[in-house]
Amino acid sequence: MKKQDLSRRSFLKFGAAGLAAIPVVSMGISTAAAAERLDESAPEAQALNYKHDGASVDHPSHAAGQKCINCLLYTDPTATEWGGCAVFPNKLVNANGWCTAYVARG
Ligand code: SF4
Repeated sequence: MKKQDLSRRSFLKFGAAGLAAIPVVSMGISTAAAAERLDESAPEAQALNYKHDGASVDHPSHAAGQKCINCLLYTDPTATEWGGCAVFPNKLVNANGWCTAYVARG
């Protein structure tokens, strides 16, 4: 086998792998972009007393300063407005929100 054949074969092999990866990456981006904001009135939000504005929460479990952005379950602490939450999959919660599942980020 010529060196040129090997090079061409490698290009085709890795080129095909690269093309196969594109839809996976695209799906990840579109899934994140498609996430909707959690509605406070949704049953799952009400079950955990979720509010977009944690400062306005009047709940015995709530302490001052607790909000989604410093909760361990907030999936992207760099998201300063709306971000994902492990408790509410495929929904976005407000960075200043709060719910009774709050866990302080260590
Ligand atoms: S679990 Fe944490 S991040 Fe998720 S809504 Fe409740 S307080 Fe916010």
